Amino acid sequence: MSIIDPHFIVIENGALSKVDDFLEDYQRPIFVTDDLLFSTYKEEVEKLMGQEQTWFMVSEYQSGVPPALLEKDIILGFGGGRSIDTAKLLARDTGLNWISVPTAASHDGIASDVASVSQNGYRYSVRCKSPIGVIADLSVIEKAPPSLTLAGIGDIVCKSSSLGEWRLAHEERNEPFEKRVYALVESALESVLQDEGLEALVRAEIDAGRAMSIFGSSRPCSGTEHAISHAMDRQCNELHGLQVAFATPICLHYLREAGYTDYGAEDMHQFLLERNMPARLGDLSLSESQLLDHIQHGLDIMQRRDRYSVLEHLAVENTDILETLVTLEYYNE
Ligand SMILES: [Zn+2]
Repeated sequence: MSIIDPHFIVIENGALSKVDDFLEDYQRPIFVTDDLLFSTYKEEVEKLMGQEQTWFMVSEYQSGVPPALLEKDIILGFGGGRSIDTAKLLARDTGLNWISVPTAASHDGIASDVASVSQNGYRYSVRCKSPIGVIADLSVIEKAPPSLTLAGIGDIVCKSSSLGEWRLAHEERNEPFEKRVYALVESALESVLQDEGLEALVRAEIDAGRAMSIFGSSRPCSGTEHAISHAMDRQCNELHGLQVAFATPICLHYLREAGYTDYGAEDMHQFLLERNMPARLGDLSLSESQLLDHIQHGLDIMQRRDRYSVLEHLAVENTDILETLVTLEYYNE
């Protein structure tokens, strides 16, 4: 049976010192990380665990089972996006279980069963398996660059858009829907809107990941705002959570018009501005026509995935979008 919920979740200061406790059933762990985190944390982790550990660098990853993993019995993804994604892919390739040890709270994939893989300038999702546990040391995560935490907040507040659109797609196009999954993502969203502390953020990210695993697709957590961000990946190199947050007020504007959200587009745009998150075209070095192109391309992505977009629902044209960009103050002052 596949694992949906992690067996254990530890979110606290000093959680790293407990890694050893959760490895009692395993003899040969391997840590998957990147060069920077390796040089920063190798000594500390090995001191806490009382012995040298085996480390696998994400830069070494190729599909298949690398020799370094042949004798191993548990994988620990130690890091941010790429380390966690690589741990997921290795767990899939080897059949081993994996534990998530996030060092940043930058996205909702820290405990999900989906890895984000980049190819030819696009990012796409690969189904893997959920972690058997999450060990989130808040004293480590708080040392991550602030932009990573903001990206994590962005990847949660964007659920205001994905949830409304999911309900619309269900009611208008009969897309599969599950109430308890909706409620889980909604409570994650609300918790972060009320409390931006790291603990609430990490918990919300874990819950969003669980929701996607339970539902069996990213739909509850990923709507047109994500598709626009995926289109933007062709040109922009900003963090995922900041890109999806950038596109969220635009989607909220139309969801409000369609009667599928109570969240205000202006409020959300203000939320981004107040936190110095990208909220104007210039923040992402985008021209008006480039953004329009990304939005159209995002709609193509939605169609290819058989996902109904609120922009399609309202037959939104480029001229409408340009007006919305003015209304929401996306232009630099
Ligand atoms: Zn996301």
